Amino acid sequence: MDSSTPADVVLVLNAGSSSLKFAMYASAGARATEAVCRGQIEGIGTTPRMSAKAADSSMLPVPGRAATLNDSRAALVLLAEWLNETFAGARIVGVGHRVVHGGLDHDSPVVVTPAILDELRKLEPLAPLHQPYNLGAIDAVAQRLPGVPQVACFDTSFHRGQPAVAELVPLPAELRKGGLQRYGFHGLSYEYIATVLPDIAPAVASGRVIIAHLGSGASLCALREGRSVDSSLGFTALDGLCMGTRPGALDPGVVLYLFQGLGMSAQEVETVLYKRSGLLGISGISNDMRDLLASDAASARLAIDYFVYRAAREIGSLAAVLGGLDAIVFTAGIGEHSAVVRRRICEASAWLGLQLDLAANDAHATCISSPTSKVSAWMIPTNEELMIARHTGRLLGLVGASQ
Ligand code: ADP
Repeated sequence: MDSSTPADVVLVLNAGSSSLKFAMYASAGARATEAVCRGQIEGIGTTPRMSAKAADSSMLPVPGRAATLNDSRAALVLLAEWLNETFAGARIVGVGHRVVHGGLDHDSPVVVTPAILDELRKLEPLAPLHQPYNLGAIDAVAQRLPGVPQVACFDTSFHRGQPAVAELVPLPAELRKGGLQRYGFHGLSYEYIATVLPDIAPAVASGRVIIAHLGSGASLCALREGRSVDSSLGFTALDGLCMGTRPGALDPGVVLYLFQGLGMSAQEVETVLYKRSGLLGISGISNDMRDLLASDAASARLAIDYFVYRAAREIGSLAAVLGGLDAIVFTAGIGEHSAVVRRRICEASAWLGLQLDLAANDAHATCISSPTSKVSAWMIPTNEELMIARHTGRLLGLVGASQ
């Protein structure tokens, strides 16, 4: 441990099916808003690779054995060993987790107990791509660091309290009893943006804002006075925008057709909906927007066209919910890094009074709309890990991480 490494740290984990993202924050100290280190292990189960950065953004050496990992459990063990070696002497005093689904009961993060864990496991079928892995990480930490408190931060919490019509799934009441309603996701990202917006864009922060979280998973959130009033994701993380491997909004009759017309099993339909559709399904090339932008193939162009079309269509829909629009914020992988996709979505939304500043957009500036634009546009990098660290620090009563 070098002299700049704090003694007590909060570890943040975002465990997915093929990736493990992590960040470590000082639990006390003036610079608790900056991670001591952050990184990820990607491609778990296929071609695993690990990368990690120090607070000053310099790359940290990672072990060669990361390339031989074969499951998410092994990735967690490797991460624990690497943290021990790299930050020997640092003491993990709390672990904060991204947990995708909090169900009906959790409108804020919670300290994990065995009873809460049991309850969260029941939600696994609603988020099969995420929830089992999020909870698996909690189990693994409990085994390795018994006694260290853990906090679950939910992607659904920020959306609780939406109007009844926004949460409704219009099926018979008896089917809705067990929690069949719209939840919304990416809440930690939206919460972070809502937290920083008053400083970055004070003139619009309390107005009508749409945040476009465009990553591998993608959704929109409509905010009024900083609170979520609707979102394009609903009961599961399949609705709304076209995503890397998920289709977004789909006529439910299509799902019936997969079952009845094509005779697919539930497992096969789940795989189609979560892993084979969206950008990957349309293009047949890749789920990665960078690959599609670099490709000359007509199917890659069609995938991008659909991504933009659907985003613009959903922006119009949420603008109707808000009764007009004051600002739009782009965030996450595509939203932060692709000037082309931002430009195309903004051009398709020009009818709302949105006029882009092309140079600012190309330069990835924070404000990317022209000074005369009726609706302002912003690019703000999200920071879900910091949000989780803050919640964890607050709930565990740690000074610094909660700042
Ligand atoms: P997640 O956290 O859900 O894995 P990210 O927010 O990291 O997703 O976003 C991943 C997406 O961002 C991928 O589709 C990737 O292609 C896209 N992306 C990252 N950098 C760029 C870029 N420079 N141009 C276009 N797309 C990018």
